[in-house]
Amino acid sequence: MDRSKVREIVETFMVPTQKSSYMGGLESRPVLVASRGSTVTDTEGKTYLDFQSGQMGAALGHQHPRIVSTINETMLSMMHSTKTMLNVPRLELHERLGRILPRPLQKSLFLVSGSDSNEAAVDMARKATGGMDVLGFHAGLHGSTSLITRSLSFNWSRSKHSAVAPGTAAILTPYCYRCPLRLSFPSCELQCLKASFELADANFTGKPAAFIGEPVLSAGGVIVPPKGYYKALQDEVRPRGMALILDEAQTGLGKTGKLFGFQHETGVSPDIITVSKHFGGGLPISAVCSTAEIADRAVANGFFATRSHAADPVLCAAGTASIDVVVNEKLADRSAAIEQRMKDGLTAIGQRHGLVGDVRGRGVLLGVELVTDPVTKNPANGAAQAIQKRAMELGLIFQLRGTGSMLNVLRFVPPMTTTDAEVNRALAILDDSFAYAAQADTKARAGVAAQ
Ligand code: PMP
Repeated sequence: MDRSKVREIVETFMVPTQKSSYMGGLESRPVLVASRGSTVTDTEGKTYLDFQSGQMGAALGHQHPRIVSTINETMLSMMHSTKTMLNVPRLELHERLGRILPRPLQKSLFLVSGSDSNEAAVDMARKATGGMDVLGFHAGLHGSTSLITRSLSFNWSRSKHSAVAPGTAAILTPYCYRCPLRLSFPSCELQCLKASFELADANFTGKPAAFIGEPVLSAGGVIVPPKGYYKALQDEVRPRGMALILDEAQTGLGKTGKLFGFQHETGVSPDIITVSKHFGGGLPISAVCSTAEIADRAVANGFFATRSHAADPVLCAAGTASIDVVVNEKLADRSAAIEQRMKDGLTAIGQRHGLVGDVRGRGVLLGVELVTDPVTKNPANGAAQAIQKRAMELGLIFQLRGTGSMLNVLRFVPPMTTTDAEVNRALAILDDSFAYAAQADTKARAGVAAQ
């Protein structure tokens, strides 16, 4: 398909994407036709390293052979099924997932998207606790359904949508590189958490229900809460009778170097977790997982959540196959190895070219925060854009993320099956792209000076 045809379809038949948003200007980006492993190919035959794993749904690698063969086989026997009767792939997935969940997590229900699962998790927490108010991080993101998950996606600017769900409020994100209280960890003794809960108590409109957070905040700029933070948060949440919900959409099933992102901290035991993204190996399926006690109490109070396609055999079979791939291919270990290689390479790039304020993340969820000056930490939004553009020209795709108005974090999410050679190639492209951005910056400064 040529560019003029693409433009015609976009202009004539597509609901437009907001120009200034991260999905704006789609028509001038590559149009994809094929994908395999850690690469995608466009209509012009150009192949890119996909260091965003599609929309993070391809963390096992695109078209993983085990997933493709499972989907093909299941399609031939049963593609769609009623949810008013059980089917075998669905039962197998409940058991497969239940056996890898850290206890006391044990029970699951299936939905289609990550947003669905978080919406249901909040409903479940409300029914189980009898509470209403839900807290989330001010740099968090939990979905795009029109009421609850958007309202809790504080990092997507709640002012963009007119109706905000009642009983939703933010607490400060423990963003140590840019501490909102201008303190330093660990001497801060987590004042951000203490102050946030003091304020939350004053704001609650009734009995509180839950806190929801990502073990590593992805869209907010790959922010890793400091050691001990989640345990301290749990100690605030529990006495208030609130449930702890962890959104493992981007951190679950191997991506951070452990099976679940919350396992990096000792003593953290969430009441509910949600999984989605690569859970279906590339197909859309999500899960809400909870303890038997929470599930039973919520259901006794009227909780239920479902979708027409939530128990489709083909999706459930893909879910079981994806867990098998993660476990059998030891992808959590592979993620940890990729993290090391990427962090070493990115740190070296920062030493060569400057601009790098912070290299962070876990496993294959990595962020590089760019600043114009390491002392003032001025966000280098322009350089981030220039590097992203140049890297795309050279054959590497990744996204820019950040908190509030900043878009200065290069976010890398390579598939867990990415080879060392592919990681090295990505690092070489980044090295060139940083050099290019630095040159462009020097020229721009010289131009300004000459005026
Ligand atoms: N939770 C997190 C942490 C996410 O990053 C996202 C989307 N990127 C979602 C939930 C929403 O998932 P979905 O788009 O599948 O509804």
